[in-house]
Amino acid sequence: MVEKKTKKETSAKKETKKAAAAATSQAASPAASPAAPQKQAKVGVFICHCGTNIAGSIDIKAVQEYAATLPNVAHVDNYQYQCSTPGQKKIEDAIKEKGLTGIVVAACSPRLHEPTFRTATKEGGLNPFRFEMANIREQNAWVHMHDREGATSKAKDAVRIAVAKASLLQDLFPKAVKVEKTAMVVGAGVAGMQAALDLANAGIKTYLIEKSPTIGGRMSQLDKTFPTLDCSQCILTPKMVDVGRAPNINLMTYTEVDSVEGFIGNFDITLRKKARGVLTPKEAEAKGIVGGGCNGCGDCEGVCPVVQPNPFEMGMKPRKAIYIYHPQVVPLIYTIDFESCIKCGLCVTSCGDKKAIDLEMKDEFEKVKVGTAILAVGFDLFPIEKKEEWGYKKFDNVVTSLEFERLICASGPTGGHLVRPSDGVTPKKVAFVLCAGSRDNTGVGKPYCSRFCCMYSLKHAHQIIEKIPGVIPYIFYMDIRSFGKAYEEFYYRIQDEGAKFIRGRVSHILENPETKNLTVFADDTLLDRPVQIDFDMVVLAAAVQPSEDTNRTRKLFGVSCSMDGWLLEAHPKLNPCGTTTAGVFLAGVCQGPKDIPDTVASAEGAASAASIPIHKGEVELEPYFAQCMEEKCAGCGLCVNLCPYTALALVEKEGRKVMQVTEAKCKGCGTCGGFCPGGAIWMQHFATPQIMAQIDAFLLGGEQ
Ligand code: FAD
Ligand code: SF4
Ligand code: SF4
Ligand code: SF4
Ligand code: SF4
Ligand code: SF4
Ligand code: SF4
Repeated sequence: MVEKKTKKETSAKKETKKAAAAATSQAASPAASPAAPQKQAKVGVFICHCGTNIAGSIDIKAVQEYAATLPNVAHVDNYQYQCSTPGQKKIEDAIKEKGLTGIVVAACSPRLHEPTFRTATKEGGLNPFRFEMANIREQNAWVHMHDREGATSKAKDAVRIAVAKASLLQDLFPKAVKVEKTAMVVGAGVAGMQAALDLANAGIKTYLIEKSPTIGGRMSQLDKTFPTLDCSQCILTPKMVDVGRAPNINLMTYTEVDSVEGFIGNFDITLRKKARGVLTPKEAEAKGIVGGGCNGCGDCEGVCPVVQPNPFEMGMKPRKAIYIYHPQVVPLIYTIDFESCIKCGLCVTSCGDKKAIDLEMKDEFEKVKVGTAILAVGFDLFPIEKKEEWGYKKFDNVVTSLEFERLICASGPTGGHLVRPSDGVTPKKVAFVLCAGSRDNTGVGKPYCSRFCCMYSLKHAHQIIEKIPGVIPYIFYMDIRSFGKAYEEFYYRIQDEGAKFIRGRVSHILENPETKNLTVFADDTLLDRPVQIDFDMVVLAAAVQPSEDTNRTRKLFGVSCSMDGWLLEAHPKLNPCGTTTAGVFLAGVCQGPKDIPDTVASAEGAASAASIPIHKGEVELEPYFAQCMEEKCAGCGLCVNLCPYTALALVEKEGRKVMQVTEAKCKGCGTCGGFCPGGAIWMQHFATPQIMAQIDAFLLGGEQ
């Protein structure tokens, strides 16, 4: 609820004058500021109706009349849609006609239209940074729609505060930096591969960094893909081969990003190439081993005595300590798992003249410079054993959807024969439990919808109907979300094929210890009665969550995440591939659950966005840099370690130490400015006098 006015307009005017005096005195005395303040501020205020979005909750006329009384205000106007062409023209014309020195637009969030109004300000002949936005829509009209009087009062406050700052704004000039003509994509699932291919095809040298020994991500673990039922590997392997061969792609598997420094156009990235224990032909050649390096013959695997579960097969098939995940891996190079290797040396002997194996190999670090980067680090399944009531990991025949994909896949652990893990018998009655751990507000699971599990569960139902004569799939669902192209039709098709649908959440599952059969307990909400049905096997459509390393990786690149850990886009609608770190983009499921078509589309979007600065060759950095007022700097150096972006350094100048800012590295976070004991740091666009004027305008100028 907005605080309501209780006192008279006259007292407001008195206080406003105080604020004006404060603002004017600030304007006259930032003696040590690096740039001169406005001499005679003439501010233009433009108030937007946004149709009824703002005007429905705020009395625009009252705000306009109030704005006209504020100090330094030389022009006030209002318009239905300020961001429209005529709305912008009004700003341009007023600047020219009235000789305005600062502009305030009271409208929506600056995240939406600050660039629009900066351009209008510039078109009118003013420096574009002499513009300030008062958010009276998202932060006011929309949240106080039932309190018109209060919202109007709050809008007046917002305008007054913005005017106080606009009176002190200075000309600022963005810094142009050259952009390295190289990009990086982190994560080589279908999203990363697509993004890398697009960048490479646009002529951009691209590093594709994958932490596991092979590319392809989750899609390479799938059998068929909904709704077209294409074989996943068949549509993915051509892309994998293209990635492996593309001259513009430097594919680095078994590699992680270790550190990131720099900024858009000039990211200095250190990569950690994990010790693979096996040389590629190129690496062997570099070591003078003629005709050597791994050719994928597999002889070493045959002799290796150490057996481990293969994570690619969800642990349902073994692998050796020297291994490849599956026969179609790209690159076809073996990898040693040094955690389980006993260094018996048998593989070295079997490799013979190829001399590909180096049991003493150590991690290596490589530094690269790139202009832009795309994060495509994908997802993991939520550890569904946390939902103890469904018995995963307790009951043999309760499996996850990814385990099901491997069990039904011809290249999987059972050669594509769906069998029960407990006894290898083909199941006749299979339950699919949807929303397993998704849409779950118990605090154990995830509150969001995992988005592709309805569709892949329909696919799974189809696959067993196709493969096992007489089988009956039962689908326990809350809603079926068949949102994509041809998805609803696919849903009807599976209904026609005989799958049974029970609308209701599964409460718990019990196992018969002798037969290993399972009893599923649920509520049938359509018939309004509890149900209890016996099955041979249960498949949990487990929720998805950000992949293990997402948090570390995002921090390296300075990217934010949502409460659930998904990487956060700059704007969910208008900039879905960008992030708030200039030059860093997102592709695929690391941003939130997406099926393959949406993943590929987002990767193409990210590649396009990441290529723009590279093709332009130069980018402008917003000039919100820290500036050192050297005469005030005591050279204490305390600020240097505080800067999260290593933008500060102490330098010798005229026989004393002073702090120096590398503007291209400075993100304008303000940490140093807030800390400096001597007040020696001037934050451009957020300078102390400007902030103080805003605070004074708020505290002294209100209509209390
Ligand atoms: P991922 O496939 O997860 O790839 C991410 C890659 O990044 C991985 O290779 C990973 O190793 C790598 N990586 C992670 N962290 C790092 C790091 N820090 N550094 C370097 N590399 C890193 N969609 C459909 O459209 N149709 C279907 O039929 C279908 N069936 C599905 C069935 C199941 C059981 C599941 C779980 C999903 C299914 N999907 C389906 C969804 C599909 O799997 C995803 O849309 C797709 O895999 C997303 O690709 P991605 O590249 O974003 O992520
Ligand atoms: Fe709506 Fe913002 Fe445009 Fe005004 S400027 S019409 S508030 S979107
Ligand atoms: Fe590669 Fe040597 Fe093993 Fe053959 S024996 S797969 S060349 S490491
Ligand atoms: Fe296997 Fe290690 Fe022995 Fe090689 S040295 S055969 S990888 S256990
Ligand atoms: Fe539940 Fe379907 Fe959403 Fe998955 S996609 S969480 S099964 S509603
Ligand atoms: Fe100079 Fe202030 Fe930094 Fe100390 S903290 S070096 S006084 S800018
Ligand atoms: Fe570093 Fe200061 Fe710039 Fe923040 S404002 S990035 S602390 S120099």
